[in-house]
Amino acid sequence: MDPLYRAERTARQLGLRAVYVKDDGRNPTASFKDRASAVVVLKALAEGASVVTTASSGNATAVLGLLAVILVPHTAPPAQIAQLLIYSARVYLVEGTCDKAFDLAVVAEAFGWYCRHTAYNPFTRKGKKTAAYELWDQLGGRAPDRAFMAVGDGNILSGIWKGFRDLAALGWIDRLPVRMGVQAEGAAALAPAWARGDTDARSERAQTIADSIAVRRPRDARFALRAVRETGGAFLTAQDEEIPQAMQTFGREVWVFAVPSAAAAFAGLKKAVREGMVGEEEVVMIATGNSLKDAPSAIRATGEAPRISAAIPEAPKRLHAAW
Ligand SMILES: *Cc1c(COP(=O)(O)O)cnc(C)c1O
Repeated sequence: MDPLYRAERTARQLGLRAVYVKDDGRNPTASFKDRASAVVVLKALAEGASVVTTASSGNATAVLGLLAVILVPHTAPPAQIAQLLIYSARVYLVEGTCDKAFDLAVVAEAFGWYCRHTAYNPFTRKGKKTAAYELWDQLGGRAPDRAFMAVGDGNILSGIWKGFRDLAALGWIDRLPVRMGVQAEGAAALAPAWARGDTDARSERAQTIADSIAVRRPRDARFALRAVRETGGAFLTAQDEEIPQAMQTFGREVWVFAVPSAAAAFAGLKKAVREGMVGEEEVVMIATGNSLKDAPSAIRATGEAPRISAAIPEAPKRLHAAW
């Protein structure tokens, strides 16, 4: 179970009853996607598959003695690729976007490879439901009022919605948390589709520093739109310029080292408060990935640390003088 932190200062500053952060960057690949991979791999084993494949920004991988063939856009952060290689996946760097890699992996199904693809494989959503169960448990047997998360394909959003629906069907909660999906402004397919009342979504471009949500064709658009509509929520967009600050706030407030995509959720929360969309509520943010796999993005947010000489006695004098 990934930890849930309470961000008291943020709650005070934003005038909210409570703000919680669920740190899902603690999983084996430091991302929320492991919840889906775990369930899909069990399903692949049950079906007797020997190869599992998926296209991924680098956060989705598979293990358990199966051969994992992972198609990654060649632009994925190097640490993400390195981790896949060390976890003994067969990695191919695709010349093209995540959408192109996705299509390639679907064609590879013809070889009998079991396809993990987000949303394309319905068991990904089932894996992602587990975060809702954990949240319910960690909040002492209730649901939060509202949940914010970064959205690319929309599968995390729809998965958590499904999880809370399960809990409602059991009679363990009496209402579903309001779903708030946050997209990067440069890859916002769902936000305009939601505003127009569409049931599918597509964006002209997918250009953002938040590479894990740089998606042109959200693969779980239908369910993500439904989850947001059914709970009276909204889709918001975060500008790339807001993300570095959100990363720093995450770090300072709850010591969560969020990747740019995960931090977009925080930028979305601030925007929702500014626009009066949130009352005095209990809010949860999902930190969907850890930035240890993308340190250069973090350094761009903070600026480089200054380099100093270690010569004594000059260096300590200079250090002290700087303060
Ligand atoms: C994949 C991913 C998301 C978005 O999840 P979707 O199901 O594609 O909407 C958000 N943050 C991180 C770190 C991710 O890897």
